[in-house]
Amino acid sequence: MLTGKVALVTGASRGIGSEIARTLAAKGATVIVNYNGSAAKAAEVVAEIEAAGGKAEAIQCNVADFAQAGEMISGIIKQYGSLDILVNNAGITRDGLVMKMSEEDFDAVLSTNLKGAFNCIRHSARQMIKQRGGRIVNISSISGIRGNAGQANYSASKAGIIGLTKAAARELASRGITANAVAPGFIVTEMTDALSDEMKEKMLENIPLRRYGTTKDIANAVAFLASDEAGYITGQVLSVDGGMA
Ligand code: NAP
Repeated sequence: MLTGKVALVTGASRGIGSEIARTLAAKGATVIVNYNGSAAKAAEVVAEIEAAGGKAEAIQCNVADFAQAGEMISGIIKQYGSLDILVNNAGITRDGLVMKMSEEDFDAVLSTNLKGAFNCIRHSARQMIKQRGGRIVNISSISGIRGNAGQANYSASKAGIIGLTKAAARELASRGITANAVAPGFIVTEMTDALSDEMKEKMLENIPLRRYGTTKDIANAVAFLASDEAGYITGQVLSVDGGMA
């Protein structure tokens, strides 16, 4: 159980992040539902959590912005007195072949997916060190492990997340803080809806468990890594991908 814990889930207005928020709240955590543009959807997630008897609050913040991430996190610590669980889930795609990819598309994906996670870790670490404990879970991707054609920016950002996770794990371990990554395979969300039917079918052929993943598959793994029971696991990358990687 996560009773009494305060959790920040970035990009929790939709998809995987919203499921992680609901799952952590169901286990007793007070959950900050971060969003960037989808205010109404974030409010719905909060309402669902509250209707189920949980505690949640929505906070707007573009995690790619260092100062905004700092304001969000200092505000949470001020209001709730602690920050126990940080889930860096916010992510975007701007797919294209590497030889045609614009500088803007490369930078945008790196800024949100990788720098966004750094920003939130950077601003949370001091509080977790003070508390002598914390859980950081970063959402990587199978694209960061294997690389994916048409996703040079995204794959680089998700491979970067793995390096960031491992370095943070080593730096923060002596203070009882763990940092791990979850690497989803093909999960049904708005992000994957954007792929062509041909690409989706091709993906299915490569999934040993012969089904796409659900947001719940990812949320369950994150909830475990965020729990006290996972206290001796750090610096790991847990693939949740039906056996793809
Ligand atoms: P999604 O449905 O597109 O949702 C993305 C979420 O990220 C939204 O809540 C969005 O908030 C938020 N977000 C985007 N930019 C942000 C920013 N600058 N600041 C704060 N929040 C921001 O994506 P998803 O499929 O759930 O993916 C979630 C994570 O899992 C991502 O990191 C993704 O790379 C990773 N992943 C997904 C899959 C998959 O198959 N779906 C596979 C591997 C990894 P707003 O709507 O409010 O802007």
